[in-house]
Amino acid sequence: MRNKKIIRRRALRSINALFKEAERVFNESPERADRYAQIARRISLRCKVRIPRKWKRRYCKKCHKFLRPGVNARVRLRNKKIIITCLECNNRVRIPYYP
Ligand SMILES: [Zn+2]
Repeated sequence: MRNKKIIRRRALRSINALFKEAERVFNESPERADRYAQIARRISLRCKVRIPRKWKRRYCKKCHKFLRPGVNARVRLRNKKIIITCLECNNRVRIPYYP
């Protein structure tokens, strides 16, 4: 279905734009960044589009906050895994990585 493809492509574009905007406003207003991340998540669920990998790590699945490493997230490497700790809710995400 061609229509579905267009919807998904549009959704992906919106998700990228929202996260970019979240990144931009994070300093001034983290709440707004959170809201953008949540909208992006809703679009991703509704349109069944995956959140691009680079943004996936910038967002807490548990408390739905936009994360910025060094501010409200800690990123550590251990045993070939990236461990991202959300400092808002202490949720940890482990991502395997291959050097
Ligand atoms: Zn969290």
